[in-house]
Amino acid sequence: MNHYRSLRVALLGAGSVGSQVARLLLEHRDELAARVGAPLELVGIGVRDVHAKRDVELPQELLTDDLATLVAGADIVVELLGGIEPARTLLLDALAAGADVVTANKALVAAHGPELFQAAETVGAQVNYEAAVGGAIPIIRPLEQSLAGDRVMRVMGIVNGTTNFILDRMHTEGSTLEEALAIATELGYAEADPTADIEGYDAASKATILASLAFHTEVPAECVHREGITAVTDAMVQQAERTGRVLKLVAICERLEDGSGSASGDRVSARVHPVSLPATHPLAAVREAKNAIFVTAESAGDLMFYGAGAGGPETASAVLGDLVSIARRHVLGGPGAAPSTHADLAIAPFGDVLARHELALTVVDRPGVLAGVAGLFAEHGVSVESVRQDPADGEASLVLGTHTASEARIAAVLDALEAHHDVERIDSVIRLID
Ligand code: NAP
Repeated sequence: MNHYRSLRVALLGAGSVGSQVARLLLEHRDELAARVGAPLELVGIGVRDVHAKRDVELPQELLTDDLATLVAGADIVVELLGGIEPARTLLLDALAAGADVVTANKALVAAHGPELFQAAETVGAQVNYEAAVGGAIPIIRPLEQSLAGDRVMRVMGIVNGTTNFILDRMHTEGSTLEEALAIATELGYAEADPTADIEGYDAASKATILASLAFHTEVPAECVHREGITAVTDAMVQQAERTGRVLKLVAICERLEDGSGSASGDRVSARVHPVSLPATHPLAAVREAKNAIFVTAESAGDLMFYGAGAGGPETASAVLGDLVSIARRHVLGGPGAAPSTHADLAIAPFGDVLARHELALTVVDRPGVLAGVAGLFAEHGVSVESVRQDPADGEASLVLGTHTASEARIAAVLDALEAHHDVERIDSVIRLID
């Protein structure tokens, strides 16, 4: 055992995750010290209310509501507050003073990652954020380090447990979205205000982070196309089931090759929306609130990362992993490594993204309507692969499946369908993954 001085760890937040990190730091003190080569000294825990009742009993003398002072004296700051402010300012202050940072805050990393990484690079410090995507699942380090010598083509993941739980309930119990959301809230999977989950904001933050890492390119949050699950109906779930499919909300980060064989002309896309997957697809088997991320790399092929995407102890595992890794660097010496953005690939507009779609329409019930509707697809360069009359809804319900077409062409078809006198309404549009 060497005799490196103890490292001063300031913990910001003692909620679901922070309280578990504090517990592990205190309970596993000796084991962690042996692993790091120096003791990790928890010097304080910053909270809003030092007298609040907590899941884990914490030493009262460690709790403080003066987060700025706590940060000022630390070697490593672990931020588990959530939200943008005061987390951003506290971490920038910590980095400016030369401290390293661990955070689980996807909203902050997605919106201000480059600012934090730049501040870290200036002083040779490090920002680790393994818990920001997929909770306990190791995915940041595999993309950043294990796959650094490969060319990642695609990352597709179920990265929001709440929406996965809701869609899973709709499939397995026949619940409506509202019923499934109510159960998710009761079980603690959904927040009192579920907007960030069901409108896809949380998944979009994670898509920003995953795309930036996978493609060594800064992908700003505003470049991520986002659709949540609020347009998913029980009829869409039943329609998917009739064709052996499952609906999932996924984040897709994709490299769009320019065909030249050289990676430098490739463009990248990041998007979040519901998809219809064959029941045999590995992501279709991801049940309840679990997360999974499916990575396809040129040489490595398909890789799947699966596990608990949330939960106090589970997320604390990833936070502790980051903390140990940063603390070891302190002991061994050397500057922190900034995330690589060397490739700086162009970001493709959403309209250029290619996908197969399935559209359900209610049309006027008379001969010749199908030919007119199919003609609209042809007019906009979209080839129809399949047409069926939906048996569940009798006479005038059509389900059309397209071959691969750009989102821009599909948007034009939808506009044309909406304006067409034989189309009563567009019941649903879903993208198909094979
Ligand atoms: P949480 O339960 O809401 O806890 C937040 C903690 O931060 C509380 O202890 C709160 O203090 C403190 N806090 C918040 N704002 C503060 C302020 N302005 N000043 C001082 N203290 C403040 O949050 P959480 O679920 O542990 O999540 C923490 C972070 O981990 C978030 O970024 C979240 O996105 C991320 N994350 C969470 C999970 C999960 O399963 N929960 C999974 C992955 C990532 P009081 O206790 O005094 O109110």
